[in-house]
Amino acid sequence: GDVGELDARVSVCRACPRLVAWRESVATTGRRASFADQPYWGRPGPGVGDPAPRVLVVGLAPAANGTNRTGRMFTGDRSGDWIYAALYRAGYASQPDSWAAGDGLKLTGARIVAAVRCAPPANRPTPEERHTCGHWLDRDLELAAPGLRSMLALGAIGWDAALASARRLGWTVPRPKPRFGHGAQAELVTADGHPIRLLGSYHVSQQNTFTGRLTEAMLDAVIARL
Ligand code: SF4
Repeated sequence: GDVGELDARVSVCRACPRLVAWRESVATTGRRASFADQPYWGRPGPGVGDPAPRVLVVGLAPAANGTNRTGRMFTGDRSGDWIYAALYRAGYASQPDSWAAGDGLKLTGARIVAAVRCAPPANRPTPEERHTCGHWLDRDLELAAPGLRSMLALGAIGWDAALASARRLGWTVPRPKPRFGHGAQAELVTADGHPIRLLGSYHVSQQNTFTGRLTEAMLDAVIARL
């Protein structure tokens, strides 16, 4: 299969009962008042961007009123403003914002996926949900591997998910397990022997961007090392 087929399969997954219930309840009776007149996607967020990426961005999970509403990763919420603006500054994105699935955004050389593809209550997936959804990430890494050069993990959950997938695919991962931090770096080697650089950044969540824990300059500095 190819990336389009993978995205199509992800977008109809129902493997995690708690997350299926949550994503659908937000999309029906739980819409944010300001979006009450809009249709919600209410399904898993498939990957977005270049089908043969040099860079894979691994986020945490869709936002209940962001991706779970618009159907595209980091689209229609404040986190998206941050990551797409940074990808635009670095030349990967055709525009600096991402408000709706039909807005013409194009990514070149980069693809965005997530550790967990369904919006979790309180943005907190369980370990079991992270493990279950990790199998979709395995497929993403496997399909991207031939041309992949680096991965950007947003937050510790994205970092752990990327390392877990790499291990399941038989890639070489440093021991002891590399620790997440802003600017953390780990050198992985794919099963066919080429190096992949994993970089960590604090997540582009509002808790980090509103408080100044993550600044644009900090994010740009990590993206420049991809
Ligand atoms: Fe499927 Fe992942 Fe959503 Fe679970 S979180 S239902 S594995 S897409």
